[in-house]
Amino acid sequence: MALFMPLVCSETWRKILPLRWLAAITAFSLLSLMPSKAGAESRWSQGVFPIVQFQGYTSHFGPRAGFSGAGELHTGLDIAAPLGSPVLSWWSGEVVEMINDRACGLGLVMASGDYAHIYCHLQKRFVALGQRVLGGQRLGSVGVTGRTSGPHLHWGIRYRGQWLNPDDILRAMVKHKKTARSFGP
Ligand SMILES: [Zn+2]
Repeated sequence: MALFMPLVCSETWRKILPLRWLAAITAFSLLSLMPSKAGAESRWSQGVFPIVQFQGYTSHFGPRAGFSGAGELHTGLDIAAPLGSPVLSWWSGEVVEMINDRACGLGLVMASGDYAHIYCHLQKRFVALGQRVLGGQRLGSVGVTGRTSGPHLHWGIRYRGQWLNPDDILRAMVKHKKTARSFGP
């Protein structure tokens, strides 16, 4: 399994990206802007951050260097957290897919209207296929299943089949919290 470890969710993304990726990065950035952000952003702000014991971001969304130097697209955000710590659902929705494979490890997909959100590398799952889940409800615990070199959550979000950059959603959530504070009691 050591062969697969550098492929996904490792620190290797920090390497300088080859120039030939610039086109891919540009294209990918444009893709992430495709959904109508004006309408979506206010709804994103209601989301719940999926990690309780946050330790840091270990890999961001977008093209990165994979094993053997070949480029790959990282379709989510990697959030490091202690092994066994809670993973929460970003939004209310329904569990539509249970995953257990070599890349994602133990994972699941939630559907919330036009959005699908995926959670990977879990240690345990606490929900069942078809179950309705509230935003902030515990889906599982952080693990090291699948292609990963350490305990973290791989969190990805799709809008009508198009991958979004989770950074954009997190920014909207932070902005909302700041606004709530400044106008709160
Ligand atoms: Zn990842």
